[in-house]
Amino acid sequence: MRYTAVLMPAITTLDNLWIGRPCTIAAALLESDGHRAIVDPGPGSTLETLRQQLRERHLAVSDLDALLLTHIHLDHAGASGALVRENPQLAVYVHKNGAPHMADPSKLLASALRLWPNELQRLFGEMLPVPAENLRILDGGETLTLGSSKLEVVYTPGHASHHVSYFDHDEGAAFVGDTTGVRIEGHSYVMPATPPPDIDLEIWENSFTAILERKPARLFLTHFGFSGNPAEHVLLFRERLHQWAEIAANSMRSASDESAAMASFMARKWNTTSSAQGCICLFWGWRVICASAPRWPHNGVCNAVFW
Ligand SMILES: [Zn+2]
Repeated sequence: MRYTAVLMPAITTLDNLWIGRPCTIAAALLESDGHRAIVDPGPGSTLETLRQQLRERHLAVSDLDALLLTHIHLDHAGASGALVRENPQLAVYVHKNGAPHMADPSKLLASALRLWPNELQRLFGEMLPVPAENLRILDGGETLTLGSSKLEVVYTPGHASHHVSYFDHDEGAAFVGDTTGVRIEGHSYVMPATPPPDIDLEIWENSFTAILERKPARLFLTHFGFSGNPAEHVLLFRERLHQWAEIAANSMRSASDESAAMASFMARKWNTTSSAQGCICLFWGWRVICASAPRWPHNGVCNAVFW
């Protein structure tokens, strides 16, 4: 008789198939000794896909113990309230600066509505509040337990002032949310994720240091999946982040208004980016301009609390 030992995967990438596209938003399913958590469940608009992904693994929302939020942007955390409504036992871990907006997302949604006046529902779906009793407030520095796994919580601002990362040292994995930008698993291009208004390039540097000094073997990015060489990844990301910031600053100095600055930024970026990445750059790149120019005349975008 032969026995086949099937090891339960400790970390599984769940593709949320955001707006029908693969490899845009990833949730990470963590499993240990019958306990399960999801890092960044994604937006409300992909809730059904998330359920489907769990079903394919013979799981349901009721089998989850916790949601570990890296930050509260809608594409990461929007589904949390709906998941808690479905499973009132769920603990939702979030940094203290983000927690009030999970309990009452009205300000967050109002900001997002300014950015996406006609498309918010289609892009991100509904965002329900998370009851205060389900919230577990983080400062950074905590160690969380999931089954026999331990996760170190590290405060990693830069992309957002309330951003944390989770380190599973046994697995050599760091769940960094958007702290190290966007890189589609299996591809080499690393792209900054720079939403207004609270990106901070100087503080971001400390977060790179905090990540690298823990020497993870791989990063898990919400956009999208694993990146296998953290030192190289962060180096590329930092270079591009500062390059973009410089281009944005130059564009703003020479342009007559925000639209012209944005057009100039995109024209310059287009030269350094292959067309395959172009659409993503159009989606993200302009945010550098707004985020780098708090006093720049704007159409309300820079006033957004979050996007
Ligand atoms: Zn984000």
